[in-house]
Amino acid sequence: MSHTLDDPTDVMVPPRVAGRVQDFLKRRKLEYSVLIENVEDLIEPQATCAYDITQEEFYTCYHTLDEIDTWMVNFEALYPERVSIVQASTTHEGKDIKAIKISGKNANNPAVVFLGGIHAREWISPATMLNIAKKLVENYGVDEDIMSILDFYDIYIVPVFNKDGYDFSWTDDRMWRKNRNPNSGAACVGVDLNRNWNVDFGGDGANNLKCSEVYHGTGPLSEAETSGLDEWARALQASSGLHVFIDFHSYGLYWMWPWGYRTGLPPTPDNDEQKTGAEHATTALQDVFGTTYKVHNSALMYAAAGATEDWAYHTAGAKYSYIVELRPESSDVGFLLPDSQIEATGIETFEGVKALLLYTSTDPDPVAKKVDVLP
Ligand SMILES: [Zn+2]
Repeated sequence: MSHTLDDPTDVMVPPRVAGRVQDFLKRRKLEYSVLIENVEDLIEPQATCAYDITQEEFYTCYHTLDEIDTWMVNFEALYPERVSIVQASTTHEGKDIKAIKISGKNANNPAVVFLGGIHAREWISPATMLNIAKKLVENYGVDEDIMSILDFYDIYIVPVFNKDGYDFSWTDDRMWRKNRNPNSGAACVGVDLNRNWNVDFGGDGANNLKCSEVYHGTGPLSEAETSGLDEWARALQASSGLHVFIDFHSYGLYWMWPWGYRTGLPPTPDNDEQKTGAEHATTALQDVFGTTYKVHNSALMYAAAGATEDWAYHTAGAKYSYIVELRPESSDVGFLLPDSQIEATGIETFEGVKALLLYTSTDPDPVAKKVDVLP
């Protein structure tokens, strides 16, 4: 990822061109070091996670799309009084994108949405969604904070948003990022769903070349995944209010809020509360294992036009809209976070979202301020 000028950037190249790339860097006098000699070595066989959802170990490994779909059905059956499954969108290939709805004693509360797996290779994101869902449900009736949160909100968790891409990252290419739209007339498949939303579509940090990893698609919300979720989220906002929206990625340890589409913009009209919410979350998260997050608006990492957090804030009206970059911090393992860290990531992230929701649920004015003209 390129960040800003003078920041390092990571590049992965196939073995046959590694020598030429090194020659190029030397010729241009660009400093470099080899982070991972052979990425393949880090891609461990993942076929050993044979636990069922009644076993703790189920939540400590990565799961295929089929396993996650089965988990949703079983999870609902296990906790019928807390959990229901709702349709949130569909994929390019026609798969249903579903959300787990977790509620306390009241129905039709304001909504909180956690989005997992928008980028296929960021496997820790869906794994963390499963862990958060489990902890929310299990702690209702045990932890007073969780009871007050779930009696105030309905929490919708989408474990895998980019289902086609996630499946492909298991079957064909572990480092796949985009969806699986074949892009008619082009050699390259896939649209970056996190550049396809409608706020400053096609601007900084997005690309109109179909082979780019940040290809934005043919138009704002051109993809089945994004257009369906846009409709669903705006319907939630209209019916019960949508107060909190978090888009979970990896990696880097960032907790960020809008704006993300360009650097140097003025803060959002809700910046103070968005920042305070992020500070509550990351302080509680750090208290668990000392994991330290960077906390700032998202364009400060890098500009990304058409990204989820700006859409969730500006279009879907979620005042507390965040993009979170989970573990690891650095590129030594990057997207290939070992499964030995899934449990700890789940524990600390759960404490973070709990602190955030305790804060947001006391906000006397939880509605996003209207921004008629983008800065
Ligand atoms: Zn991502």
